[in-house]
Amino acid sequence: MDHFNYRNGELYAEDVRVADIADAVGTPFYCYSTATLTRHYTVFDEALAGTDHQVYFAVKANGNIGVLATLAQLGAGADIVSAGEMQRAIAAGIPASKIVFSGVGKTAGELKAALAAGVHQINVESQPELHSLSEIAASMGVTAPIAIRVNPDVDAKTHKKITTGLSENKFGIAWEQAESVFAEAAKLPGIDVVGVAVHIGSQLTDLTPYRAAYTKVRGLVETLRGQGHDIRVVDLGGGLGIPYDAENPPSPAEYGRMVKEVMDGIGCKLAFEPGRMICGNAGILVSSVVYLKKGVDRSFLILDAAMNDLIRPAMYDAHHTVIPVNEPHPGDNMAPVDIVGPICESGDTFARERLMPAVEAGALVAFRSAGAYGAVMSSTYNGRDLIPEVLVNGADYAVVAERLRIESVMDRERVPEWLAAPLPGDMPREASG
Ligand SMILES: *Cc1c(COP(=O)(O)O)cnc(C)c1O
Repeated sequence: MDHFNYRNGELYAEDVRVADIADAVGTPFYCYSTATLTRHYTVFDEALAGTDHQVYFAVKANGNIGVLATLAQLGAGADIVSAGEMQRAIAAGIPASKIVFSGVGKTAGELKAALAAGVHQINVESQPELHSLSEIAASMGVTAPIAIRVNPDVDAKTHKKITTGLSENKFGIAWEQAESVFAEAAKLPGIDVVGVAVHIGSQLTDLTPYRAAYTKVRGLVETLRGQGHDIRVVDLGGGLGIPYDAENPPSPAEYGRMVKEVMDGIGCKLAFEPGRMICGNAGILVSSVVYLKKGVDRSFLILDAAMNDLIRPAMYDAHHTVIPVNEPHPGDNMAPVDIVGPICESGDTFARERLMPAVEAGALVAFRSAGAYGAVMSSTYNGRDLIPEVLVNGADYAVVAERLRIESVMDRERVPEWLAAPLPGDMPREASG
């Protein structure tokens, strides 16, 4: 469920005409809904009612400060994977005491920054990281509260680029090594082992792999307690899928029931790290049709949005529903078109042979379910701007990320001194130094 619906023949974001935002900020742009973010966070949180738990929103899905501040107000913590994301979360009003730091390659600098800020928990993913963290913490005179992320070797049955819980994946401590790494961690001076963490992948549409992984984790917690470890936290990760197309993912309520069943009586605080499930359907990408090109056996809808703005179709073969901002009429002819961007790569294709009503050059279209892994993965490839992000709240909206123009991108670039002689008719440009 979301808050992007047709009203009087036009697409609205909550109570705002999408076309009005397009007039104000230009296309393409991302548009997020406060009501949808709120609803998804609340539904997820309420599905876990009755358990001692905390939700840590996975910042990598959508790190916009306006989005994070919206979730912070609802009580969300943050699951971060870099020091940069920590800065974002803190700037948005999420206190360090509600931040969990995940990731396989945290650098010494990042670990130091996290300890200095006093983050709630660091999820350690390897032995070298464990030792490095212990040394850093000891040298700072602090103890690092950690969970150890284990790899349960369970197939999440999702796209291969976003499955993380198989032994062949780079994530977590191998299941066979888990007990010995916990024993090692218990002896280290800068480390306080508080829990076990797991995250088996993203866009899961079935509870079976979750149940398998969580059951293994529960068994491990009991084994570790038997070995004298004081396990107080079980971090169950994120990954709950959303309907992009025909998928029918479990509801948060079904997920919550499964969690309660598997973790019944465990006596641990439960941590969750949902990303996509909270923000995916809370965002659309709005774009204009530049040309409608009729080929011999294919037609192309050429948009002003491209793979640099939304890379999921190119990267994960992802499906995004594309709808015209002007509502089609019930009897309208539908014809297959390839929906593409202007970038000079065939991969810059959003959809092939998609049935669409007739739209003309200049018309606005919207990609649904673009709120997760959209703007955060964008780039300036092909000399393109980073596009604006807008957050709607009822009849109000705010630009929560301004367009980053090519001039600003070029500002960080320099012509080296040896070439810096001014070109004829050119303003001299400052060389580096
Ligand atoms: C990416 C990630 C998440 C969030 O995944 P979603 O599929 O967006 O819910 C949570 N935890 C960790 C460790 C992650 O890497």
